[in-house]
Amino acid sequence: MITLKTPKEIEIMRRSGVIASGARKLAGQMLEAGIATRAIDREVRAYMKANGALPSFLHYRGFPASVCVSVNDEVIHGIPGKRILREGDIVDIDVGAQLEGYHSDCCATFPVGVISDDAKRLIKICRESFFKALDFARKDCRIADVSRAVQMYVEENGFSIVRDYCGHGVGRSIHEDPEVPNYVEQGARGVRLVPGMVLAIEPMVNLGDAQTYVGVDEWTVHTKDGSISAHYENTVLITNGDPEILTPIEGDGFV
Ligand code: MG
Repeated sequence: MITLKTPKEIEIMRRSGVIASGARKLAGQMLEAGIATRAIDREVRAYMKANGALPSFLHYRGFPASVCVSVNDEVIHGIPGKRILREGDIVDIDVGAQLEGYHSDCCATFPVGVISDDAKRLIKICRESFFKALDFARKDCRIADVSRAVQMYVEENGFSIVRDYCGHGVGRSIHEDPEVPNYVEQGARGVRLVPGMVLAIEPMVNLGDAQTYVGVDEWTVHTKDGSISAHYENTVLITNGDPEILTPIEGDGFV
């Protein structure tokens, strides 16, 4: 069931989004060769607490950390831990905040020091595909219009869209209806967008093949062919006019 948010709920979600975005920015600024990914988790947890929020992902279906940190061939759901970041890595920081019962969800992929030209382009195209989709995050468009915009842009730039995972509604739950796929099934249109819907739009883009597998920790999703993967996400409110990004993009590595 898709829930439409009231103005009062939207006001809370706006504040929740600012906190999630702030955590993304903080984590992005921490990334450098030699740090352990668990240090990011610690800082994000403290940041959430200091802002009166809860990390949405902590204990969600048993996830053991406050932020997903997915490095290189890891697509999503990487668990921060002992891993030491190295020059040339690319790191997806995915974080959700729960404030007064309402969630927000955002991510971005950041470079560690100097990265390859392929990696730079992958991160850039992935991020840009979100903004292509945003053009269709409007009243009377359909979910498939959003999905198609991501897929076309990514594929025309020679990369692969991950099909095993998708975006989603956000609100009282971190994952709500509707699903927001990053590709279009033949003939699919999806629901019509109406003001008050809040969607997490999150392209996941691989340099190589689209296929993925879940690693031995039962969380981390990897590319099957070992190629690198990028991810970008914001929480978006459908309005009567332009969409509103509830997780400010400042600190996403480009702004
Ligand atoms: Mg999400």
